[in-house]
Amino acid sequence: MGGKIINNLSSFPVVFVSGKGAVLKDSDGKKYIDFVSGIGVNCLGHNHPAVVKALKRQVKREIHISNYYNSDTGLRFASRLLELTGFEKVFFGNSGAEANECAIKLARKWGYTFAENSGLKGESKQVIVTLKKSFHGRTVAALTATGQDKFHPGCFGPYPEGFRYIEAGDYQALENIIDDSVCAVLIECVQGEGGVNVIDRDWALALAERARKVNALVMADEVQTGIGRTGVFLASQELGIEPDVVTLAKGICAGVPMGAVLMRNRARDVFSAGDHQSTFGGNPLACSAGLVVLETVGKKDFLDNVSRSGEYIRSTIKGWNLPCIKEIRGKGLMIGVELKNDEKFTAGFVQKTLLEAGLCISTAGPYVLRFLPPLVITKKEIDEGLRLLYLVLSQKK
Ligand SMILES: *Cc1c(COP(=O)(O)O)cnc(C)c1O
Repeated sequence: MGGKIINNLSSFPVVFVSGKGAVLKDSDGKKYIDFVSGIGVNCLGHNHPAVVKALKRQVKREIHISNYYNSDTGLRFASRLLELTGFEKVFFGNSGAEANECAIKLARKWGYTFAENSGLKGESKQVIVTLKKSFHGRTVAALTATGQDKFHPGCFGPYPEGFRYIEAGDYQALENIIDDSVCAVLIECVQGEGGVNVIDRDWALALAERARKVNALVMADEVQTGIGRTGVFLASQELGIEPDVVTLAKGICAGVPMGAVLMRNRARDVFSAGDHQSTFGGNPLACSAGLVVLETVGKKDFLDNVSRSGEYIRSTIKGWNLPCIKEIRGKGLMIGVELKNDEKFTAGFVQKTLLEAGLCISTAGPYVLRFLPPLVITKKEIDEGLRLLYLVLSQKK
């Protein structure tokens, strides 16, 4: 089976054939608790009845119609998404990287136009500031925006100019790095791939204030944190930074590919017709699943339950008092468990051992175990997953 699909992430010798809720079944009939949910994508778990029903209905009506026209499903999804988030316009693409590419283009045009209108030279305001340890995707500009050197190997260069990086929590750098040449700052409210780092609220507010002072847009990459993952619909709503632009993907359509960019205020009318487009973007099939997601995840009770489930997982692991654990971090159902440095007992080793035991988890770097369970995971499924986790982690002396 292996060898035919390029290994983007290290791949395991397991073939999944079906799933239900937070449980996956492989080709030998063995069951696994799913703490990965397709890297935060299957927010409503596997085989969710309402998602299946909506997709079936939509398949019979229309799968794709192109952006020359509107589909009723697409229009309904756009309206509901804007209504829930308080944004004014939306662009639909197909992935997180594509959403961030759109945000980068929007920010550059905003800076260019602003500079021109102020009598400056257009190119003098097109720098984008992102955070160290951030992750923004694998296309060339999104990679450049990613503030981790390991993502910038020479073989994929040259990388585009106009990106600067800032350390979260560094107040001095706000003044030094964010000057008048900056058109936007782009921030993950909780950094996912970079190690599940929760960004400090006071610093994030100072970042947003500094950005506004130099007439730069505030943009939040909520590809992972958005759509209820952290126990609020958008993590930026809780952080209070009031972004002009938010990028979404992963959980937005419960597993059908979709990326979206929300725009408001100064960012609302930056694009004119023809500036940006995507052939598959916003196709009705994805939107039909997305409507179910909005209807379900958009409810306060649902979000409160995400917070409670996350709190339960974190406090349970904490209560074990295991010597191999250095720190437990995260918000809602976006959780990182950092292990103490040990050459043998790495996150990768634990991940592999847990898979054999029947639990799927993800990692972020060599020592962080990363949990992104479906938002609908039940207490019973959590307990079974945690039982397996304890079995493996308590083996380490
Ligand atoms: C996953 C992720 C991306 C990239 O999304 P793709 O759909 O893989 O392109 C971008 N930003 C963040 C914060 C992510 O977690």
